[in-house]
Parts: sequence; structure tokens; C-alpha cells
Amino acid sequence: MKNNRSYRPSGLAFSCFLTLLLLSFTAVTYAQSGKSFKTIVLDAGHGGKDPGARGKFSNEKDITLAVVLKLGRLLRDSMPQLKVVYTRNTDVFIDLKERGPIGNRASGDFFLSVHVNSTAGRRERIQTGTRTVGKGRRKRKVPVYKTIIHRETATSGTETYVLGLTRNSEKERAIGEYGENVAEEPGLLDKNDPMTAVLIAQYSQAFLGRSVNFAGKVQANYASNGRNNLGVKQMSLQVLANSTMPGVLTEIGFINNPDEEEYLNTQEGQQNIAMCLYKAIQAYKYDIEKGK
Ligand SMILES: [Zn+2]
Repeated sequence: MKNNRSYRPSGLAFSCFLTLLLLSFTAVTYAQSGKSFKTIVLDAGHGGKDPGARGKFSNEKDITLAVVLKLGRLLRDSMPQLKVVYTRNTDVFIDLKERGPIGNRASGDFFLSVHVNSTAGRRERIQTGTRTVGKGRRKRKVPVYKTIIHRETATSGTETYVLGLTRNSEKERAIGEYGENVAEEPGLLDKNDPMTAVLIAQYSQAFLGRSVNFAGKVQANYASNGRNNLGVKQMSLQVLANSTMPGVLTEIGFINNPDEEEYLNTQEGQQNIAMCLYKAIQAYKYDIEKGK
């Protein structure tokens, strides 16, 4: 007992010293990683056997690749000091689970995933005619219906997602905004799995601030380019959760809106979108290097 008492203060002092050492070490590594922005990971959504959302004449996978390659060219020409890593730069299928790790292995500092939006399609029941049922005095005509699905939408614009738990109320609000259901990207984490909450909490603590900063810049650039701004939102996206760096998933327009499908398939439209993303990267790099 006596020995314990006399040793305790020094033991305590020693463990305090260790904790301080550890804290300062952690602070140093965080500060360094926070200030560096050397490598960006560009992730063109879908690819190969996975076309993504389909429009009247085009597929999501081709639009995302075209925009990502244009963005890569802009970065190579104007920010040659920034290393660009692609999860794919051709029309190949890459599993969602593999995309984050590709960036992690390349020591990426930011993960930018590009996708094209779509609404789920509106179902409408229309009367196509009548038919006669029953016999004799019970004979009568009843209407005949069929269900048609309207694939086209008047919904338009851009939105950018950061990783977060998707709550039901948020989803309802989102549906309210569009007036119809927006088709969800594949690869959502299971909300009911307790590990999902832990994973998202850890990711958020480390990366949410920087991800939201970037997402805000992306949306501001789209808006000043005349695009409809649907805002920054949270979703439990696996592709972001699998990467150990800040990141966003940006939806660059609706493929089942005829005007936007047209725009997304023009060289000019793709170049405008790439330029919006380029400006966001440039401004984000400035913030990171200034320690904001
Ligand atoms: Zn997609």
C-alpha cells in the first residue's frame, strides 16, 4: 500500500506525459494531413456491364466518364502539381466496394465521385376502353385500365452528397422538393446495422467538415453557371464510406429530363460541368493550404 501510494503520483505523471506525447503526435499528423492536398481521386460512376441510369439515347456511365476525363485534362494542364488518380478511365466495370480502396492505396486526399441523376418514373393508370362482363340482365360494361410509366421528368438540376445517415424525414423532404421520387444511387449502407452508425460517426468526425466545404463550392459553381441548385445533402453512400479521405458524390443533372440529357451529352455541357468541378477543386485546395 505504502509503495503504491508513493509510486502513484509518478505513475500518473508518466501516463500524463505519454498521453500528452500521443496527443501532440496525433495533432501533428492531423495538421500535416489537413494541410496537404496532393492527390485527388476521380471516380466516374458505373461502367462496363453497369450502365447506371438510362436516358432516351444515352447511359449514365458514358456521361460520367466523359466529364471525369475532361476534368482530368483541365487539372493536368492547369494544376500539374496535383496528382490525379482515376478509379476508371475506360468503360470498365468496377465494383462499388473497390472504388474507395483504389483511392486509399494511392494515398488520395479527396474522393470525387461523379454521377447522373434520375427520377424513378411516375406511374399512371389510364382507361383504355371497356369490356362486357356478366350474362343476361347482369350484363354490364366495366372500364379497362392499364398502367403506364412516365420516364420523362421536368425535374432538373444538380445536387452534391456528403456521407451521413439518411433519415426518413430528410427523404420525405427530398421527395417533396421533386414532387416525385428520385431514384437512389446503388450502394447505400444498411441504416439498421449498428456498425453503419459507428462507421459514419468516425468518418464524420474526421472528414465531414472538409467534405461539406467542397460540396458547397461545387454547388455554388453550378449555380453561377446557370444550373438549378438542389443543394448539399447527406446520404449513407458506401462508395464514400469506403474511402479514408474527405469526399463527395455529385449528381450533375437528370438523364430522364430531355433538356438535361441533351445538355449532358454535348461537349459544351460536359466542359462546363468539368470547369465547375475544377474551380471547386482549386478553391478547396486554397482553403486546405491556408489551414481553413
Ligand atoms: Zn449513378
